[in-house]
Amino acid sequence: MKAITSSILMLACAAACAAEPATIAVKAAHMVDVRNGTLVDNAVVLISGERITAAGSKLAIPAGAQVIDLGNKTLLPGLIDAHTHITGNPEDAGYSLIAKSVPRITLSGARNALVTLRAGFTTIRDVGADAYTDIGLRDAINDGDVPGPRMLASGPPLSITGGHCDETMHAPEYKLTALGVADGHDEALKVTRRNIKYGADVIKICATGGVLSFGDDPRTSQYTLDELKAIIGDAHRLGRKTAAHAHGGDGIKLSVLAGVDSIEHGSYIDDEGIRLMKEYKTYLVPTLYLGDWLIENAEAIKLPKPLLEKAKVVLPTARVNIGKAIKAGVPIAFGTDAAVYPHGLNAREFGVLVKLGMTPAQAIRTATVNAADLLGWSDKVGSIEAGKYADLIAVDGEPLKDVKTLEQVQWVMKGGAVVK
Ligand SMILES: [Zn+2]
Repeated sequence: MKAITSSILMLACAAACAAEPATIAVKAAHMVDVRNGTLVDNAVVLISGERITAAGSKLAIPAGAQVIDLGNKTLLPGLIDAHTHITGNPEDAGYSLIAKSVPRITLSGARNALVTLRAGFTTIRDVGADAYTDIGLRDAINDGDVPGPRMLASGPPLSITGGHCDETMHAPEYKLTALGVADGHDEALKVTRRNIKYGADVIKICATGGVLSFGDDPRTSQYTLDELKAIIGDAHRLGRKTAAHAHGGDGIKLSVLAGVDSIEHGSYIDDEGIRLMKEYKTYLVPTLYLGDWLIENAEAIKLPKPLLEKAKVVLPTARVNIGKAIKAGVPIAFGTDAAVYPHGLNAREFGVLVKLGMTPAQAIRTATVNAADLLGWSDKVGSIEAGKYADLIAVDGEPLKDVKTLEQVQWVMKGGAVVK
């Protein structure tokens, strides 16, 4: 029976499915050329399997191609968020987190992955999750078990004892320590290597204090230059990029000098930090919209008072300093810290970048070509070009005039498959 079935299949296939997968042609009135910040009219994107084979204006559509006509919409490459916590949620900002099990957290990550993908973010870099939940989710998405964006994942972020990424809300008798805690050169190497052993694509380091942690100061550096050099040097040697959570000026400078690939947040960046980041070509991943959401919703999510007090000081300061960094020409990649606010609202960050002086084209570049470069995925994602994954989105209106159009993504394709 089995042999008969397979020979029927083979006969059918000989006629219908020759070696090449069927071509898909996506048509739209316009397409954003993200490199040049210009619009291409009468756009056609040809796709074979997961990849783009050609893209341009008025391309001839091969006979037999499946045509997806998006009418008057504008096509863009799928967006990239270089700073998410996909298995986290806003209500986890305080004590409510301690009642959640790892399986429960992971399953909410599966929901968040779909919401993020449908919002037009076809690639994310997840920078910090307890218990490797992000790595499990990444693997489930790659295996096709659950829908979601392409993911790079860090697993537990490295932290000093009592640092931003340690467990900071329990009394001493609970003896709780976060998985990523590593003090001193040797432990730092051990935890970096352990994260890589368990599947980390990127090494996340908490280099300064933070806002949503107890008993630390965002302005103070936490890791020493020696520890940062150990972690970053080892990660690079093992083929992994590194991202440093850093608010304070000293932690930013130490991380840049140690060779980190991106500074996350960068709230207290000063002139010397700006100069160093330009010299070292280090990306800054500002996460600014979260300030609006967190302060408006502090009561609803029962944000503990000491954390709210920090947020009220740090987040407005960040906008002033990052405005200076943007104007000075520090390389910027798009990030949100989604989890601090609800997943799916990621595109609200664009409006803040434009308020701080970027053109819409520059803001869109942070979430496409720049973020792809930071991830080391420039050959895969970030623009609509032959050879890249067919990760496409479409919006109504004119994104090069109004970035708010990106908050209402109408159509999403990931790897040649329509997901919205
Ligand atoms: Zn974060």
